[in-house]
Amino acid sequence: MIQTDILIIGAGPTGLFTDFEDGLLKMRCHIIDALPQAGGQCSELYPKKPIYDIPGFPEILAGDLTENLVEQGKQFEPGFTLGERADTIEKLEDGSFIVTTNKGTKHAAPIIAIAGGLGSFEPRKPDLENLDFYENKGLNYFIKDPEVYRDKRVVISGGGDSALDWSIFLTDVAKEVTLIHRRNEFRGALDSVEKVQELKNEGRIQLITPAEVTSLYGETALQKIRVTQESNSIELECDHLIPLFGLTPKLGPIANWGLEIEKNAIKVDNSLDYQTNIPGIYAIGDVNTYPGKLKLILCGFHEATLMCQSAFARIYPEKRNVLKYTTVSGINGFDGTQKQAVKSTIKSIE
Ligand SMILES: Cc1cc2nc3c(=O)[nH]c(=O)nc-3n(C[C@H](O)[C@H](O)[C@H](O)COP(=O)(O)OP(=O)(O)OC[C@H]3O[C@@H](n4cnc5c(N)ncnc54)[C@H](O)[C@@H]3O)c2cc1C
Repeated sequence: MIQTDILIIGAGPTGLFTDFEDGLLKMRCHIIDALPQAGGQCSELYPKKPIYDIPGFPEILAGDLTENLVEQGKQFEPGFTLGERADTIEKLEDGSFIVTTNKGTKHAAPIIAIAGGLGSFEPRKPDLENLDFYENKGLNYFIKDPEVYRDKRVVISGGGDSALDWSIFLTDVAKEVTLIHRRNEFRGALDSVEKVQELKNEGRIQLITPAEVTSLYGETALQKIRVTQESNSIELECDHLIPLFGLTPKLGPIANWGLEIEKNAIKVDNSLDYQTNIPGIYAIGDVNTYPGKLKLILCGFHEATLMCQSAFARIYPEKRNVLKYTTVSGINGFDGTQKQAVKSTIKSIE
């Protein structure tokens, strides 16, 4: 059982900044995300796009913003459960909660901060017979650890950035890489398309287009696939098939947690602290709704800050929290680091 003060569901910009604000108030946090990496929409949907409305940054790439947020929160040593979806919640008699993921990992905390954005990103799956049987037996929708594919025969299907980027990356890891796409044209960055062309010319990637995977074979795990091209069809032996057809966000299991939902978002009290109808559960960032709500990163940061003050008061009702500027109080990280502005020198005048 993972035990923490604030359990954050969602490692998007809002969840990552919540970790920093928790830390300032000396509260520990742990973050769960269904994706294998932090960053939410910024890292999954548009890491290379510049954002122009983050205060203090005239322009910053979404991927760089994610890296900065992770760096900023690191001193407070957040725990991460990545690649797992928060599925169920149980309220204990003392008012605290246990959240269990789809992989059975249990997390206990007195405060839950749902920063789930548009919902957990679920992979778009191909329409194939016995798909469930082969999942995690050679068939994967995410690449969590590229080493799994070392010296294996890997087939990637898809035509976007993920399919192109992983095909390129795995040529240095896997024994064989085959990229299958139902069109001849790819929708990815031009330099990635050119790189795949180059690797194909060198014989390091096998490219099959326009084509689709139409059958999966193997007694206990995936051993072979059928690839169909117009009137032609071939069988291809492989150890792994990775369909990378994009992700769709779904509010998913959180919708069944007894929270008040309006238009696929969680209703919160925005006049105070972004608490939901269940005391101790907050919803911040894109996942919440209230009159005048704007789904913007900076709004998530603001909501996270107010939410943490309220969470502190719930956890420590006997303590008085006086707001201190970090420029004045400095920051004491849980990892032992200290940041403090240089004190001005006091000098007497003769
Ligand atoms: C193309 C594009 C461009 C954008 N440009 C801008 C811009 O210029 N400026 C701006 O301010 N905003 C922009 N946005 C919006 C911005 O990305 C969102 O407002 C922001 O990402 C919201 O952050 P969040 O942390 O609340 O949610 P998200 O970034 O959506 O992160 C939520 C995370 O929660 C996880 N999650 C959800 N449910 C579960 C669960 N049950 N278990 C585990 N994990 C779960 C998801 O996997 C996800 O990683 C843009 C959005 C897009 C799509």
